[in-house]
Amino acid sequence: MEKKRIYLSSPTMHGEEQEFVKEAFDTNWVAPLGPNVNELEKDIAAYAGIKAAAALSAGTAAIHLALKLLDIKEGDIVFVSDLTFSATVNPICYEKATPVFIDSEPDTWNMDTKALEKAFERYPNPKAVICVHLYGTPAKLEEIMEICNKHQVPLIEDAAESLSATYHGKQTGTFGKFGIYSFNGNKIITSSGGGMLVSDDEEAIAKARFLSTQARDAARHYQHSVIGYNYRMSNVVAGIGRGQLLHLEEHKAIKKKIYKEYQEAFGRIKEITMNPMNPKGDSNCWLSCMILEEGCKVTPNQIMDALEAENIESRPIWKPMHLQPVFEKYDCILAEGSIRELKQQGKNAVTVGEDIFNRGLCLPSDIKNTRKTWKKLLVSYPLFLESKIKKRFIIHC
Ligand SMILES: *Cc1c(COP(=O)(O)O)cnc(C)c1O
Repeated sequence: MEKKRIYLSSPTMHGEEQEFVKEAFDTNWVAPLGPNVNELEKDIAAYAGIKAAAALSAGTAAIHLALKLLDIKEGDIVFVSDLTFSATVNPICYEKATPVFIDSEPDTWNMDTKALEKAFERYPNPKAVICVHLYGTPAKLEEIMEICNKHQVPLIEDAAESLSATYHGKQTGTFGKFGIYSFNGNKIITSSGGGMLVSDDEEAIAKARFLSTQARDAARHYQHSVIGYNYRMSNVVAGIGRGQLLHLEEHKAIKKKIYKEYQEAFGRIKEITMNPMNPKGDSNCWLSCMILEEGCKVTPNQIMDALEAENIESRPIWKPMHLQPVFEKYDCILAEGSIRELKQQGKNAVTVGEDIFNRGLCLPSDIKNTRKTWKKLLVSYPLFLESKIKKRFIIHC
């Protein structure tokens, strides 16, 4: 018999979602807009503690509109986290602007503040900074905000992975000029697909709604003065989101428990460390990750293969953006210098992000997994770890 698959992070539905969707069908509010969209916007804004939110078709669309609202154009420079999913960067290129990647720091795996300062020395006039809260762990927002304020450059927080995570008790996504959330299928809550742009600038959010619905001017006939997009969230999708939002805190609590269980199970194995938390924040632990000790003979790929043989899903760490064929031509700033300079000096620079990518792995973090599946998962680790690690692991179990 085929073993039941253990997923990385799959949707977890509760029932209320269907009620909101049914209401949309019953009232024939199936087409774009409608009460679910308005209510989801209000609910997210209230939850995050921010003035306004625009419900969109994807988190990527939210990033794109944030850039549009900041008037990012061809040739403009945008500083952006290097260790992230490509969706953070693609919208910069939609506008033919130039991303400059900022390396990670080991403390939180997020944007290195020293590298960010260095980037301002090299490229003094960026139009925006996009920082990511990777795997749900808040970045060093205090320092990042201070640097952005000093240079009077707006911050966009890509909080796609960190909805419900806080920093000094305040929700991630609410520190910068704009924040974005994603309700994609594997995120902490999902609407089957969708995103949200948030800001305290209510006018900007109103403009985002305008741009997301083909930028139709206030005229009886169809009149357009600027280029628009079809980025609005549908009322059916928003219904799923409303039902999910009721369970966000519960999802977070389980995700945090999963992280703790891994941490305890790996506690005595010096070769394995969990992804870092930010002591000033409260992560939503969207994905639990591990990193192998430097020089460890076991590789993340071996672990993934062994897990896959047990029908357990895992995933590599995001491959840094500066290593992506499509983004190779752009610069990446390390705390000590820039990749471009080091290359000119004939040096081969391994960034902090690249090191995390080489040694790290995302572990299954699906909140539907029961204690029993965790046991199975943890017991399967000795199958792939060196006997030296194995012995200590079994003793611990
Ligand atoms: C998922 C994700 C996005 C994109 O969100 P979509 O809703 O899938 O468009 C952007 N940035 C990061 C870091 C993500 O993980």
